[in-house]
Amino acid sequence: MVDVEALIRALPKVEQHIHIVGSTRAETLLWILEEGGSKSPFETVEDVRRFFQYRDFPHFINVYMKVFRCITRESQFERITYEMLEDDARCNVRYVEASFSAPDHVREGLDYGLMLDAINRGVSHAHRDFGIQCNLRVDLVRNYGPNVGMQVLDWIENKSDNIVSIDIGGSEEKFPPKPFAPVYQKAKEVGLHLVAHAGEAAGPESIWDAINYLNVERIGHGVTARQDPKLIAYLRKRDIAVEMCPTSNLRTGVITSLQNHPIKTFFDKGVKVTVNTDDPSMFNTDMNNEYLQLHQQLNFTVSELFELTLNALDSSFLPETQKLQMHESFMKEYRRLIDDFS
Ligand SMILES: [Zn+2]
Repeated sequence: MVDVEALIRALPKVEQHIHIVGSTRAETLLWILEEGGSKSPFETVEDVRRFFQYRDFPHFINVYMKVFRCITRESQFERITYEMLEDDARCNVRYVEASFSAPDHVREGLDYGLMLDAINRGVSHAHRDFGIQCNLRVDLVRNYGPNVGMQVLDWIENKSDNIVSIDIGGSEEKFPPKPFAPVYQKAKEVGLHLVAHAGEAAGPESIWDAINYLNVERIGHGVTARQDPKLIAYLRKRDIAVEMCPTSNLRTGVITSLQNHPIKTFFDKGVKVTVNTDDPSMFNTDMNNEYLQLHQQLNFTVSELFELTLNALDSSFLPETQKLQMHESFMKEYRRLIDDFS
């Protein structure tokens, strides 16, 4: 009999939607607090895990803010990033686009350039040790408004390294996409790709606005598109990828159960959906778990799960030639796995 779970774990994967801060392991958070020398609100890993439980989406944002404020030295990003990629590599993730909420930390007095350098030390060490590749997307953090967004674009223009796109995360209900239109326009002009969190904590109008005003190529979450059949059809027609994060949505109360998550409906309707962890440590998940949950709770077959991998690769912001090469090698690997397991 085929060991389907082992096969799913062995599938090559791509992760498009993961926040660096939200990947901080509980042990590492304790280390950061110790290094910072401040009085720690947590004594043990269990304390941290208990803290990572949320009543609703606003409560999650609140906890997330407390966590990012624990980071007091730029160099701490190296270990967080390395471990994030180590965890992804363990799940056979080969390529990651990781989100870095730069303005959160600059407001706390950290230096943008030094943080980016620390992150990229983590990225290159992980590449050396595990072969995993990682590019970055910078989250402008919508709560700070479009002026800060413009400022962040200046930082990126001065030091862009491996940054491939921008994003707006944060409190979606209070800070709609429209005011960010000029920021997104400028980002496009300087050659950045465009993504926005939309349809997670707000309704389908937030997704429409991200499409119409920000010209996004991918939507982060997009859960509430389920309320609007026209929008689902439009996402499909325009081939806009939707980065879905089922466990995250369950933990923040956006959905009531995984069976109730719309990812399978969207997939069946031909929308280019992908599956992601969002904040793996804060939601106690990883890419293997996401794939397994889709199989167990929503009846995704192995070949459908592999389609999610290809969706993530095809809608990634890798250069076209690299994308095609990787696509081909994933196909070969998949065929080999199917043979090995049958
Ligand atoms: Zn997110």
